[in-house]
Amino acid sequence: MKEKLKRTNFAKELREDIIGQKVNVAGWIEDIRDIGKIIFLVIRDITGPIQVIVDPEKFSQVRDIPRQSSIILSGTIQRSKAKEMKVELKLEEIGEIYYSKHPLPIDPTGRLESSIDKRLNARALDLRNENVSKLFVIRSHALEIVRQTLREMAFLEVNTPKIIGSASEGGANLFEFDYFKNKAYLAQSPQLYKEQLILALDRVFEIAPYFRAENSNTVRHLTEFYSVDIEGAFLDYYDIMEIMERLIKNVIIGIHNLGYLDFKTNEFVKKAIETKFERLTYQACIQELKENGENVVYGDDLSDLSLRKLGDLHPGFYFITEWPLKLKPFYILENENDHFLSDSFDLQLGYLELISGGSRQYDPHKIRNRLADQGLQPDNFSEHLKVFDWGMPPHAGCGLGLDRLIMSLTGSVNIREVVLYPRDPDRISP
Ligand code: ATP
Ligand code: MG
Repeated sequence: MKEKLKRTNFAKELREDIIGQKVNVAGWIEDIRDIGKIIFLVIRDITGPIQVIVDPEKFSQVRDIPRQSSIILSGTIQRSKAKEMKVELKLEEIGEIYYSKHPLPIDPTGRLESSIDKRLNARALDLRNENVSKLFVIRSHALEIVRQTLREMAFLEVNTPKIIGSASEGGANLFEFDYFKNKAYLAQSPQLYKEQLILALDRVFEIAPYFRAENSNTVRHLTEFYSVDIEGAFLDYYDIMEIMERLIKNVIIGIHNLGYLDFKTNEFVKKAIETKFERLTYQACIQELKENGENVVYGDDLSDLSLRKLGDLHPGFYFITEWPLKLKPFYILENENDHFLSDSFDLQLGYLELISGGSRQYDPHKIRNRLADQGLQPDNFSEHLKVFDWGMPPHAGCGLGLDRLIMSLTGSVNIREVVLYPRDPDRISP
């Protein structure tokens, strides 16, 4: 029996310094071009394309292989005459071929464009497009940088439950399901757990999916999204803003250094790392919106329209701080100087909200009052609130929408582009 070929090199490893060497490469056939005397095969793997030169005596072996079939082959590296590449492979032996069945649902080379719906229905194939897979390579690197940066700042990575027995934050946006003889819910955030954990673990972070039963069909909402949540004892909302600014700048610098961000086409990210993120109070935003002819009321939430206006006025990253307390969840701390306001912030990139955070209320008595104010039953929170009687220190934290961050850094217009298998009100498969 013929011995099976095994891959020796990825595409990006085929460089001039190994000209003359015999290598085995594996991937899929992106293109076959027959120009008479030669056939050019373009094989691609996750790291890039490989041009393979086929001589006439091997034509019959390659001519009829359907595009997008997977293949492993061996050949010798030689200098290429083509301008776009330094080296190419001269085919010696074809190993196994794993055939693709045509017609395919989409053309992953992108020559024939498909709608995002069609592409998502064939996501595994869609990822063979370099522009698509690149987004997930960036996402993977960004996650690594996030973990590294937070660990450097003494945050411990934790994992809290996503199946919860009571509607912890009281929101109406919970997915409810049968759990044996009881009801259970999918977590909409790790808020209560992470606050409890700082009692002993001091600084924690969690990167996990959360679930919101919101029927919003926008390019920035999903029913399942990833959040980078942090929480730290003896920190306040200003500390958290500093930490998150450093985190985002590290991510930008890191993926730029890997060659995945082009500062020429992404002006705002270049500016972002050179300057301090702007900090605007909620009050200043209202003022500015009024001056620009918007009909806004002090105390009201900022509508989508207002946020878009603010985004036009502040196209980069900026914090909106000290929101009215009534707009914020019960666990946010009121502002010492103005009880109408809170020690909270959002980080915006233009119109898009990336982070919500704040200092937390740590007096259980006041939390009970806030719960009642918001129409929630304080007694339903006893399990949580008992922890506050065990020496709960002041603390602060936030949640960063990972999908939204990746979306904005890669210039994607739809959050679905940067999520492998997005979930929204109309999509729960594949
Ligand atoms: P929005 O007002 O944009 O709906 P939110 O204020 O309801 O967001 P938070 O509860 O503050 O969201 O969640 C923290 C972060 O998680 C948000 O700033 C955002 O980046 C992200 N996020 C929240 N909901 C979603 C969602 N449905 N899809 C994707 N990301 C989300
Ligand atoms: Mg928010």
